[in-house]
Amino acid sequence: MYYVGVDVGGTNLVAGLMNEDCEILDKASHPVDHSQTPEQLCGEIVRLAKQVCQSGGVTEKEVRAVGIGLPGQVNNKTGIVVRTPNMPFQNTPVRQLFQRQWDMPVFLGNDADCAAIGEYRSGSAKGCSPAVTVTLGTGIGAGMVVDGKLFTGFAGSGMEVGHMIIHPNGHLCGCGNRGCWEQYGSASALIQMTLREMECSRDSLLWQLCGGDRSKVQGRTVFQAARQGDETAHRVLYSYRSGVAIGLINLVNILQPEVICMGGGVSNADDDLLLDPVRELVRQGSFDKTMPTRLVRASLGNDAGVVGAAMLCDSI
Ligand SMILES: [Zn+2]
Repeated sequence: MYYVGVDVGGTNLVAGLMNEDCEILDKASHPVDHSQTPEQLCGEIVRLAKQVCQSGGVTEKEVRAVGIGLPGQVNNKTGIVVRTPNMPFQNTPVRQLFQRQWDMPVFLGNDADCAAIGEYRSGSAKGCSPAVTVTLGTGIGAGMVVDGKLFTGFAGSGMEVGHMIIHPNGHLCGCGNRGCWEQYGSASALIQMTLREMECSRDSLLWQLCGGDRSKVQGRTVFQAARQGDETAHRVLYSYRSGVAIGLINLVNILQPEVICMGGGVSNADDDLLLDPVRELVRQGSFDKTMPTRLVRASLGNDAGVVGAAMLCDSI
């Protein structure tokens, strides 16, 4: 049997055809048209899902299930996408709309959960339990697989680790609370920290790397500057790493996962600038100083979403 996973991102729809060994046999992508209605966007998802079957030489009868991963709040029990940032879905019955055009078992998951399933099935967390995957992006997303099954809490909103409060009265978060982890550990937080430090350091290399244009500062800019010995960049990274580490320490102390996979563009930074020092901070801050939890880089990159979506049917 074969599986189809569709990763619905803010800019692209990516569909993948997968075999039982979690190998992606074929992929197709299409830009998201933000002017489309929910019905039209669902139509695109169906079209792309069928397209990879066709190009992969698989008949529709050979497909066991279709999984759809989306950013935002998703309810697989009801088949409804409650809300997604920057997309037309709002209390949209995505499963029903899909099945109206293609009568298949359809599973829905949020993108962080799909990434966690993907890493568990064929990435850095393969076969581990509990396996947590943390994605540092605009916010911080995370998912956890326990004994092969996704843990999402009682009503589907568990593991919203980006909103664990690590600083009472800290920075205001989009969720309405103050001091959430993602205000200190996400890629966006890193950019904000970099911009704040740049204001105090007019001679920093960071100004040259962004051509004097603050809006060109990206997560990777600060790592580039640090690589070239820039003091300001090192100062930013010092506080960013402690921001990342605090949340990870809490995760380790509460869950003691077998492995935590770090994903998102920021996690591609050189090990000596991010992962190695963060691992040491987490070890020092953990209750169990032997730190049996392995902290590693996620290995599937952008494919994690497609693999995880395709395997939702076996993970829920
Ligand atoms: Zn928050």
